[in-house]
Amino acid sequence: MSRPDKRDDRAHQRISKQLAAATEGFALPGTFLERSTRCNKAGCRCMADPPRLHGPYYQWTRKVDGKTKTTLLTPEQVERYRPWFDNAKTIRALTAELETLSHHRRLELNATRCYRGLIAS
Ligand SMILES: [Zn+2]
Repeated sequence: MSRPDKRDDRAHQRISKQLAAATEGFALPGTFLERSTRCNKAGCRCMADPPRLHGPYYQWTRKVDGKTKTTLLTPEQVERYRPWFDNAKTIRALTAELETLSHHRRLELNATRCYRGLIAS
């Protein structure tokens, strides 16, 4: 069985490569939703049985200066930007993984230092 720090090194290399790949393209923050809606007007197709909803509408929601901002995108914009949303999501997931790995490494380093301290005293 390999030492834990070697495993961490391999995980770090993998994350680093995946981050490099994800940042080859652009990245847009926020969440992206596709939704269909009802206008609730009597006689409208969205109130029929079965209902035929309005849309789909493509909503992009993100924080701008601490405030939530929502923008509707056209189908063409959705097609163009979808990989950018995917890239940002991948980068966030990989960054979270790297942070967890870094905390793990920090705890190991602290434990090693304590152990060495005990031997030296
Ligand atoms: Zn309607």
